[in-house]
Amino acid sequence: MENIVLANASHGGFDGGASAADGTVEKDINLFIAQKLCSILRFNGYNVIMTRDTDTGTEDDESASIAKRKKSDLSNRLQIMKQHPEAIFVSVHLNKFTTSAANGAQVFYTKNYKQAYDLANSIQSSIKMLIQPENTRVVKQGTSSTYLLKNASVPAIIVECGFLSNKQELEKLKNDDYQSQIAFAIVVGIMDFYELRS
Ligand SMILES: [Zn+2]
Repeated sequence: MENIVLANASHGGFDGGASAADGTVEKDINLFIAQKLCSILRFNGYNVIMTRDTDTGTEDDESASIAKRKKSDLSNRLQIMKQHPEAIFVSVHLNKFTTSAANGAQVFYTKNYKQAYDLANSIQSSIKMLIQPENTRVVKQGTSSTYLLKNASVPAIIVECGFLSNKQELEKLKNDDYQSQIAFAIVVGIMDFYELRS
């Protein structure tokens, strides 16, 4: 059976997501990581569908209010899940926090599917093992305010890849090689997940 991964570069276009002190915008790094994720997965024989592959949102009406566009954007991404009930959904985000010391990747999962918890754990472990041995974060269930996890119709997770508010981590996140390392670690987690499931 072919494994289908829905790769979601969060935000995009009108919606920049979080931004760093130096003007770095979350949507751009999310896209770079998601594109690398997609390439590595495809190279390994996975069927990957990206929710966006350019700097655009997925909303229907670009002339609508920002609130309406945001709503339409999220519901269209949810629609992609509904069209692929056999897939898993991997969303790439970056974090931001008031305390600049906060750093490290953390994976969130939907409570709608037990496999989402397993997938989140696999990815959290591979990130720790491959690039962040000092990371003590554990996977967390997404809150009801996280629309895509709350309404997920397939095993869905969010990888918060790091903090834009931490100076050292920001520099890493902007680095092409580091983006590849994160993408690779996520892929290893996905492969472990399928391995354990089969
Ligand atoms: Zn975000």
